[in-house]
Amino acid sequence: MPSPVITPLRTPGRAPRVLTIDVEDWFHVCGDDYYSDPRRWPRFVARVEKSLPVLLDRLSRQGHRATFFFLGWIARRHPDLVREVGRRGHEIAVHGDVHRRAHEMTAAEFREDLLRCREAVAEASGSTPRSHRAAEWSIRAAGEPALSVLAAEGFACDASVTPVPPLGRGSNPRGPHRVEVSAGSIVEVPPLTGRGFGRPLIVGGGWPFRMFAPDRVAAAEDAFRSAGWPAVFTFHPWEFDAEHPPMEGLAPLLRLVHFYGLPSLPERFQTWLDREGDRCVALEDVLPRLAA
Ligand SMILES: [Zn+2]
Repeated sequence: MPSPVITPLRTPGRAPRVLTIDVEDWFHVCGDDYYSDPRRWPRFVARVEKSLPVLLDRLSRQGHRATFFFLGWIARRHPDLVREVGRRGHEIAVHGDVHRRAHEMTAAEFREDLLRCREAVAEASGSTPRSHRAAEWSIRAAGEPALSVLAAEGFACDASVTPVPPLGRGSNPRGPHRVEVSAGSIVEVPPLTGRGFGRPLIVGGGWPFRMFAPDRVAAAEDAFRSAGWPAVFTFHPWEFDAEHPPMEGLAPLLRLVHFYGLPSLPERFQTWLDREGDRCVALEDVLPRLAA
């Protein structure tokens, strides 16, 4: 397969902050044999119907727009949630069908999983999603087959490739870029990254967002936006759930990543929302503004 052609992109002037939500439930954990097995999922208590509306209300109150990446598994069980997100004017996007890492699937498996998800989400929403994020940012570089599949299937935007090892290669671009593959092209918009503990980290969400002082996250955001790179933040409905079920048996590292600072997240999120005067936008809002 020939190497893809990569063209860096930026917005003219200061870039916006982009809010993305991965719509999955508390038990959708990659890398854990017990929780990652979809055959077990129907036995867990579903919380997303409770936790997602809390987040939607927060965003509606202040007029923020976001991209919501739905798992196909969630869209089939909760089509009403997909419709509600659409009714509130947000972008509806896809996060794969059963939260499998992209690099652990063949191209054919990735396509099957992607199309199954898109079908479920499109059926619930009545429109065809054009943005995608793989589970756990698991497209490790532009040359992986998953991006070719996404371009061939007509996706306009992907948000799965990071320069943060081991999730992605350290040589990946930090800012948005167009990837041209033989099947077509797609715009890649990476998450907001910064440094911590002597290494690159995703700071626009997850445990670093919950751990780092808000000023440190703000400095990373400002550096991106000043460079014309959208600052992409990512949260999950379960991070806003005061009744998140305990997860016995989760490995220590996964436990840290999942639970660190969880009780204070809703307050931190609100402080972050209020910090800048402008509103959050969705990925599809920023695409037309990106240029070489
Ligand atoms: Zn996910």
